[in-house]
Amino acid sequence: MPSSSKLPHVGTTIFTVMSKLASDSKAINLSQGFPGFGCDPVLLDLVNHYMRAGFNQYAPMGGVPLLRERIAEKTKLVYGVDLNSESEVTVVSGATEALYAAVTAVVKQDDEVILLDPAYDSYAPAVELSGGIPVFVPLEMPDFSVNWERVKSAISDKTRLIMVNTPHNPSGYVWTRQDLDTLADLIQDTNILIVSDEVYEHITFDGRVHHSLLTHPALRERTFICGSFGKTFHVTGWKIGYCIAPPKLTEEFRKIHQFLTFSTATPLQYALADYLSDAGRYLTLPHFYQKKRDLFCDGLKNTPFQFTPAQGSFFQMVSYAHLSDESDYGLSVRLTKEIGVASIPISVFFSDGSDRKILRFCFAKDNSELHLALDRLLKVKL
Ligand code: PMP
Ligand code: GLN
Repeated sequence: MPSSSKLPHVGTTIFTVMSKLASDSKAINLSQGFPGFGCDPVLLDLVNHYMRAGFNQYAPMGGVPLLRERIAEKTKLVYGVDLNSESEVTVVSGATEALYAAVTAVVKQDDEVILLDPAYDSYAPAVELSGGIPVFVPLEMPDFSVNWERVKSAISDKTRLIMVNTPHNPSGYVWTRQDLDTLADLIQDTNILIVSDEVYEHITFDGRVHHSLLTHPALRERTFICGSFGKTFHVTGWKIGYCIAPPKLTEEFRKIHQFLTFSTATPLQYALADYLSDAGRYLTLPHFYQKKRDLFCDGLKNTPFQFTPAQGSFFQMVSYAHLSDESDYGLSVRLTKEIGVASIPISVFFSDGSDRKILRFCFAKDNSELHLALDRLLKVKL
């Protein structure tokens, strides 16, 4: 047995822990972020079709060319940006792989990487496994916006990378155009690269626009964009996504990708290529999820929790800081066991585990399940 761990502070992810507890307690699982409903049967038929038609061997390392073209077409349609699908788009086995491969491709021993705190839980371990040093910059409460003065003072001549996530998990904060401009100004005379996690790109509310870093020319030339079909087409278990980056960065990215997974499930790639030909399938997503957010938030008004409706993502945060000192982890476990609704305590996303008395609920569920969860949340005792 090895005597020392490479990740001594890392345990099992909270998503695994809470989903298991939800299952053991027969609770409604609003913890781990995954849709509670199925995908479009058309997509299932397409996968079935391509499997039976014999598309079952390794896909090209960078991805099936037609899927890469379709990703480029989607990018043109949604963001007005032209891509070379050969040299700038790589299909990967989920955004988790894209994030890991991008970090591994560029971070060397003792490089500093700026992480906006709280951050999605896979970022810091990826940085540390490459010998990098995470430098945490706290987001502003209560909306989790970026404090650019703090980012500026965190930048040093050792900064190699800044990791960005919009719409943000867990808060749902959506970056503004001003955020992009400020970031571009801050790094213009540096060699700093960006990893931009945009897995919720199609889930924004109240008419908000998702400003992909691709749409900012100065940022685009130094950014890896990470996307996920799991989120967009309700198939998180398929683990398929993509990375968009300029040719030189894509070259480095693929050096890692080819030894991490080599390629991604072939029939899924062909099926998604076909499915993407109808843009309505992703352009309707904001409306679809806004109805769920609104339903969930309407019900939350009758509970003791305080909240501001999420700007994006399929998560809603709620605060109970005005009512109780109970730890967010303790409350999350108690609610799962006692009333049968599982959530995520957001302390797990903070680098220092700080407890703001906030829980995160996933509202990507059937309306009937959301109603049932809301009925149960009425009984919360704090
Ligand atoms: N980034 C964020 C912010 C996420 O919430 C998730 C969870 N889906 C991922 C990355 C991972 O995406 P995937 O399931 O495609 O690996
Ligand atoms: N992204 C999902 C969430 O935030 C979880 C994905 C996972 O379990 N790895 O809940």
